[in-house]
Amino acid sequence: MKCADYDKIFKIMGNLTPLKVDCGQLCGGACCKGDSKTGMLLFPGEESPLTVIEGENGQRLAVCNGTCDRSSRPLSCRIFPFFPTISENGKIFVEPDLRAVRLCPLLEHSDEIEFDPKFFKAVKKVGKILARDEECRKFLENITEDIDEIGKFLE
Ligand code: SF4
Ligand code: SF4
Repeated sequence: MKCADYDKIFKIMGNLTPLKVDCGQLCGGACCKGDSKTGMLLFPGEESPLTVIEGENGQRLAVCNGTCDRSSRPLSCRIFPFFPTISENGKIFVEPDLRAVRLCPLLEHSDEIEFDPKFFKAVKKVGKILARDEECRKFLENITEDIDEIGKFLE
């Protein structure tokens, strides 16, 4: 059963990206250079036309060969390198996904970059939709914990 309406979620994200220009030119598309053992984490109930493998802790990961049909890329790719974190009282924030801190130059130079506010509004909206579903909310909580832990380590 679908945990959240991913068709609706993908529609909200549309073609939005953190910048109004192609950030892949900054880094040679570093986030699309995984291999057959690394992949993008799928959200609970999210389906993908890509090959899906089981990662550590039973997570489902979508793997690609570095190219994809943008209209069918996973949600993790659409919101990268940010994440809709959730507070203890259920409030959604859009924060840098510190799991990508060593990979993505957007996080390293975030103070100097002019981001597209529409992207952040969309990620927040998506976070709110996900938080309405129990399994997805738990997923947001777990990743928020991971991001917070990395944040403490980086302080
Ligand atoms: S690693 Fe960051 S800057 Fe590079 S393409 Fe991915 S999101 Fe853009
Ligand atoms: S699915 Fe597409 S956007 Fe996501 S990592 Fe692969 S090539 Fe990049």
